Amino acid sequence: MGCEMRNNVVVTDGAGTTQRGGRHRAPRFAAIAVATGLLAGFAVMGVAAPSAIAATTKPLTAVSLTFDDTFSDQLNALAIMSKYKVVGTFYMNSGRVGADGFLTVADLKNIAAAGNEIGGHTVSHPDLPTLSVDEQKRQICNDRVNLTNWGFKLTSFAYPFASSNAQTEQIAAGCGYNSARMLGDIKSRFGCTDCDYAETTPPADPFATAALDEADNTWTLKDLQDSVTNAETAGGWVQLTFHHVCANNCDSLSVSTTIFDQFTSWLAARATSGNTHTKTVGQVIGGAVKPLVTGPAVAAAGPGQNGVVNPGLETTASTGVPSCWTTGGYGNNTAAFAPVTPTHSGVKAEKLTMTNYVDGDGKLLPTLDLGACAPTVVAGHTYSLRTWYNSTAVTQFAVYLRSSLGTWRYWTSSPWFPATAAYTQALWTTPAIPTGMTGISFGLNLFRNGTLSTDDYALYDTVGAPAIAGPVVAAPTPQIAPPVSGKVEVAPPGDATPPK
Ligand SMILES: [Zn+2]
Repeated sequence: MGCEMRNNVVVTDGAGTTQRGGRHRAPRFAAIAVATGLLAGFAVMGVAAPSAIAATTKPLTAVSLTFDDTFSDQLNALAIMSKYKVVGTFYMNSGRVGADGFLTVADLKNIAAAGNEIGGHTVSHPDLPTLSVDEQKRQICNDRVNLTNWGFKLTSFAYPFASSNAQTEQIAAGCGYNSARMLGDIKSRFGCTDCDYAETTPPADPFATAALDEADNTWTLKDLQDSVTNAETAGGWVQLTFHHVCANNCDSLSVSTTIFDQFTSWLAARATSGNTHTKTVGQVIGGAVKPLVTGPAVAAAGPGQNGVVNPGLETTASTGVPSCWTTGGYGNNTAAFAPVTPTHSGVKAEKLTMTNYVDGDGKLLPTLDLGACAPTVVAGHTYSLRTWYNSTAVTQFAVYLRSSLGTWRYWTSSPWFPATAAYTQALWTTPAIPTGMTGISFGLNLFRNGTLSTDDYALYDTVGAPAIAGPVVAAPTPQIAPPVSGKVEVAPPGDATPPK
């Protein structure tokens, strides 16, 4: 996933283009100046330049193999790298650790025990510059805290989608990292024709280090080798980025174990045949492990306060979806969302139209984030969920919880509410929030063909919650629950382009 969207990259390509000119050309001129100075020095001393040195001493080249996104098939890379005694840097999303298809804490410990570096890649892989400063701090700093609490030393960071700006760079530094990696800023047949073949050591900007385009299933063994040999001419630092490493083209963003084995074997031998050495990013950048910094916490709404942000859906994001809300759902169906009138109050309400229903559901939810949008909750408390709706089919609240690590998962669903033509208030009180859970997201869903309009959401701690106003459909007699799944598709894995 991702490479087919490469032509649509805006943030990654745009940021890289603006930075390329000065950042990568200046060091090249500096290198020429040094070489000229040396030759001049020999001339002044009246001694012939020792040509033997030029013939045999190759410039120093460092190669860092980096792995993004916490995919469990990166254990295939670990096995190959261990075989050839090569180390690299694995950038983790701590909120994914232990989830289906992702590495576990035990895996991370095995990776680190083999001499590899564990780096940070945010809690849940958002497009950072689209978030508030505080939310970016929670994503970057709390990920570093999570990984450090598992026993790792965190000095290196990589931006999801290689999406960054000056402010995001400052936040990465403020969270205690020593460097942060971009993508697509090194020349190859895949792009960046006006770039250099290598990053400088030290990099001009350690919080925007240049790397090749991410390797995908169109990369050949020769492409990987070329990325190294091209750099060896002048030396410097080559960062290669992998996502999936698997036997049989398991993803467009994959490299085969066969190619990876051949390349790693070849690369290991470059240390003796040339002057090319494989290093972790932390080994290249150096520096001490800085103290932990925790992102700003978001307090739960007080008694009688509605915890929902943009509860009336009156503010709309550039994506067309209400600000701080996301269109969720899963399964085989077509769920379409659009503003609708009449509203319950104000000028905006949102309509879900479900067609082609086979299974799964569709729903509008407070964005599953680290607290900027999703309400904060207190373990042990119960919450009153309220929404005004009209619909042509039954509906129910689907409820998700965020753990203290920042991981979202499905929790529970309310009983069904009946179809109703006039705006009616759906009301349900949750069970007590389990220990270790810090955030909530909820929405009415559709799990059959029909329409559902919603407006004026509320979430209150049941202690101090205001009295119910207007017609209410309290949770009716429980019925057999439909197959609500834990899955909510938020962002596609991969770093080629931000989620739409
Ligand atoms: Zn990523």
